[in-house]
Amino acid sequence: MRYNVDLHIHSPYASGVSKNMSLPELSRQAKLKGLDILGTGDILHPLWLEHCREWLREKAGCFYFKDDTDRKTYFILSTEVETSGRAHHLLFFSDFEKVLEFRKDIEKFSSDMMVYGGGRPRLSLNPQELLGLCLKHDVLIGPAHAFTPYFGIYAGYDSLEMAYGKQWEKVLFIELGLSADTSTANLIPELKNKKFFSFSDAHSPNSYRIGREFVCMELEKPNYESLKNLLCDVGKNQIVYNVGYNPKEGKYNKTACRDCWKIYGLEDAIKLGWRCSSCKGILKKGVEDRIKEIAKKQGNNQLKQITNRPEYKYLMPLYELIQMEIGKKGSYEKCAQEKYEKIISRYTEIEVMLEVQEEKLREIDNGLAGYIMAFRKGLVAFRPGGAGHYGTPFICQSEEEKRLKEEEISREQNKKYIQKTLF
Ligand SMILES: [Zn+2]
Ligand SMILES: [Zn+2]
Repeated sequence: MRYNVDLHIHSPYASGVSKNMSLPELSRQAKLKGLDILGTGDILHPLWLEHCREWLREKAGCFYFKDDTDRKTYFILSTEVETSGRAHHLLFFSDFEKVLEFRKDIEKFSSDMMVYGGGRPRLSLNPQELLGLCLKHDVLIGPAHAFTPYFGIYAGYDSLEMAYGKQWEKVLFIELGLSADTSTANLIPELKNKKFFSFSDAHSPNSYRIGREFVCMELEKPNYESLKNLLCDVGKNQIVYNVGYNPKEGKYNKTACRDCWKIYGLEDAIKLGWRCSSCKGILKKGVEDRIKEIAKKQGNNQLKQITNRPEYKYLMPLYELIQMEIGKKGSYEKCAQEKYEKIISRYTEIEVMLEVQEEKLREIDNGLAGYIMAFRKGLVAFRPGGAGHYGTPFICQSEEEKRLKEEEISREQNKKYIQKTLF
């Protein structure tokens, strides 16, 4: 069966996470979004673990939450941890016993796992040692947002072998992160046999946040075992397609100045000694440039695609699209909310954005349908993100309008200072 899967989520015990985060609320919002399987997130944290044990039922290795209408949201026990070098990793567990066994083994390497803010524990282990423990306990592991400059594995290492050591081939997946998509990451030779995941890293249960990136998977069962089989190419389990942001919207897509947000090519940045020519601020290397650099170091000088991969579909939050359509006049928040609720009462957000036929959308909201169709046709111009600033999408109504907008953006980028506008 096909499932929409988002396995990177945080609990209220990780810093910066909404206090509304709970399994019932996640399930309610997952239904609106159209997600079938979520990661629990933060499963090593004692209080969140208790919460998950209280709310989840189990049948044949599948964990689920059942709401009043008997709809099930499935969960896979998961967490993110940080190792030395500030590298983040995603971990998946088969059941609660494994979680407890594993936690017992790593407790001594963590000073913050038991406290508030320790939802994503910091471990005094290097990635190689963590991989060893995961293999010992049959825990699935892969780097989270692998390319982001502060917490991605490739920020500190030029290859997975350097990071994870001799057993690196047992790392079976990487998470792309918001600033990369399949075609950018598929330039790196050592990733040939790794599966690419795209998940949200949501810090709020809101349907606007969860599933902003997700994977459509064919799984025999909605559980750990089938996920493991997908990673090992066993049975019919496979990735059908990935869905996520256009990388240009990601915060670290381009090399850019941390202070004035001016965008640079890699060669120019090197020539300038990583100092902004306009404001002398420090330049931060973007994900796109970092991936090309690694690809070349690993011998892909022509920057060719390494292998065939499932399709990567672009998505943006429906609510953001509604805000664009109505602009920011008057009581726009209320109006946007009403529009959102009207359309979401008929279809899930994922259906609206990717699948529902144009006529059906026009019956509900003609104006918004125009924006959704323009988005599906790729009529989006981007002011790219970089150095911690999200990129900005602009929906256009024709190829000509898109071309003009792109010209305007590139003229702006050559100016000394760019004012960040909302849309
Ligand atoms: Zn992280
Ligand atoms: Zn600058």
